[in-house]
Amino acid sequence: MFSISAVPCFNDNYIWVLQSGREAIAVDPGDAAALLAHLQHKALTLTAVLVTHRHSDHIGGLPVLAEHFAVPVYGPASIAGITHPVRAGDSLRLLDTPIQVLATPGHTHEHLSYLTAEALFCGDTLFGAGCGRVFDGSMADMHASLMRLAALPPETLVCCAHEYTQSNLRFAAAVEPQNDGIAARISDTRTKRLLDQPTVPSTIGLELATNPFLRCDHPDVVAAARQHTPEASTPVEVFTTLRNWKNHFK
Ligand SMILES: [Zn+2]
Repeated sequence: MFSISAVPCFNDNYIWVLQSGREAIAVDPGDAAALLAHLQHKALTLTAVLVTHRHSDHIGGLPVLAEHFAVPVYGPASIAGITHPVRAGDSLRLLDTPIQVLATPGHTHEHLSYLTAEALFCGDTLFGAGCGRVFDGSMADMHASLMRLAALPPETLVCCAHEYTQSNLRFAAAVEPQNDGIAARISDTRTKRLLDQPTVPSTIGLELATNPFLRCDHPDVVAAARQHTPEASTPVEVFTTLRNWKNHFK
């Protein structure tokens, strides 16, 4: 068994730390100082690092961490600093816990996610009430990745890499003004942020109920998308419409 902590860094990133006994693994250490302070405060030894994708706010801490710890760094082969390249279908065993490697392209083409029996570490693919921007993957890739995550057990914890839930929910409410689950989540999220608490992890079940990007086949979401792109009909077309709409949403 392990416990999970969200270590904040930069404006709105989280480094996820899985802890078992005095050992820990970190996911997406963008900022070494924030992680080192957490490890020291909790008297933990880092035993491995997992990386989802190549953006600097996810890997920026790797060089400094390498000076402190000779530990395996798992992630996509194309990223500098990865010592143990992994790809979809691989399974790892860390902290005595099986961890599956999933391909989740879309935000970037090489993006990976990591899944334990309880928790998903999905980087910039799925966010609280939203999803990552599509950079060098395709809209179809991103939609397929999100559908793969949506099919996980509903109780799976969603450990994403950014605290974007509050602004994502404003968009979700614009897409589905009648969705009571979104209204309830807005209220819950406001309370957590006022107390300076993370709004994540959420769960796959909560995302299925309140995240428009996982609801591209729901009649209300389809109708909202068609107000922007009248010809949108397939889930990928609805997803693409939502993603472009969100990019300009204030
Ligand atoms: Zn990113």
